Amino acid sequence: MATVAEPAREARNPDLTREFRRPDLARAILDRIKARLTAAQPLRLMEVCGTHTVAISRSGLRSLLGPEVDLVSGPGCPVCVTSQGDIDAMLELAGRSGVIVATYGDMVRVPGSRRSLLEARAAGARVEVVYSALDAVRLAAANPGDKVVFLGVGFETTAPGTALAMEAAEHEGVRNFLIYSAHKLVPPALAALVADPELGIAGFILPGHVSVVIGRRAYLEPLAARRIPAAIAGFEPVDILLAVDRMAEMLGAGRTEVANAYARAVAEEGNPLARAAIERCFVPVTATWRGLGEIPGSGLALRPHLAARDAREKLGVAAREAPDPPGCSCGDVLRGKIKPTACPLFGGPCTPTAPVGPCMVSTEGACAAYYRYER
Ligand code: SF4
Repeated sequence: MATVAEPAREARNPDLTREFRRPDLARAILDRIKARLTAAQPLRLMEVCGTHTVAISRSGLRSLLGPEVDLVSGPGCPVCVTSQGDIDAMLELAGRSGVIVATYGDMVRVPGSRRSLLEARAAGARVEVVYSALDAVRLAAANPGDKVVFLGVGFETTAPGTALAMEAAEHEGVRNFLIYSAHKLVPPALAALVADPELGIAGFILPGHVSVVIGRRAYLEPLAARRIPAAIAGFEPVDILLAVDRMAEMLGAGRTEVANAYARAVAEEGNPLARAAIERCFVPVTATWRGLGEIPGSGLALRPHLAARDAREKLGVAAREAPDPPGCSCGDVLRGKIKPTACPLFGGPCTPTAPVGPCMVSTEGACAAYYRYER
């Protein structure tokens, strides 16, 4: 097997990002991967994270890896996995008098059962786009006569920010700042994907950002204990190829481990401060994911001492079951059953300017990435 000089991982490297974009390194690792595998038995891997999907599409890795590796996208786009019922509940809140809904930019364009938050705003609803949960606290402080509901979406990466915003609101006495939590946890979703034999996933490219927070150890129970190889990856082409190579090596040697191919950013235990912020404010609950359905322990609800900030409790709103838009295959895309181009609506009725489903809305959505880079 060819020896490849891998990039230095130390943070003192003056231009680390360039190292992980070097074409010569990428080519050498690609050759090594191909030497480990055969086209007759392709390695089916899921890139769990939407940012990885975009990075893979943009750099052409899917085609460079060739028939030996089948890369499928997963449920790692926070906007995309937010259930239709949660989106409808947010729309219901936005239509109420005395309520301002605050959320991230992509969220406002996701079609609900009847319309999007953007369309609701055009019809007079008070919907504000914010860049952080703390911006929503400031919005609440500036509008004391209204209730400002921040739509908390995203994984372990955004949940600490929501937690710290709630604590800032407590500290500053901003009582009209509420949360509708649709936050989700990645490890329980991975366990659900592993348990679905129809998907045939042989290994996971694990999300770099989430792993910075939760650490490598968080994957041992859902993956290694179920004998599924996995590798945490950064977001440059060499990072991703290293993760694929680690899994190809493991499978060849009959080992199942969780490798850390992003050691320059991810520690074994993650970020204890961020994890503690989640722990202080949230408790794991069953959550409904678009495409994956209900998964026990995969959502985050506010802890009882923050009940006064829980929009579901205080404003009596709840997600009801709602079907995906007619003809939309986002659910199958999100669990890696099909690739975006297999959806009959892809590139025809559904485009980034006229999205039918959320996977075409979000910058991290698989359909948007394929539309932009892989048509
Ligand atoms: Fe959903 Fe559109 Fe993607 Fe089809 S092409 S899966 S409708 S986002």
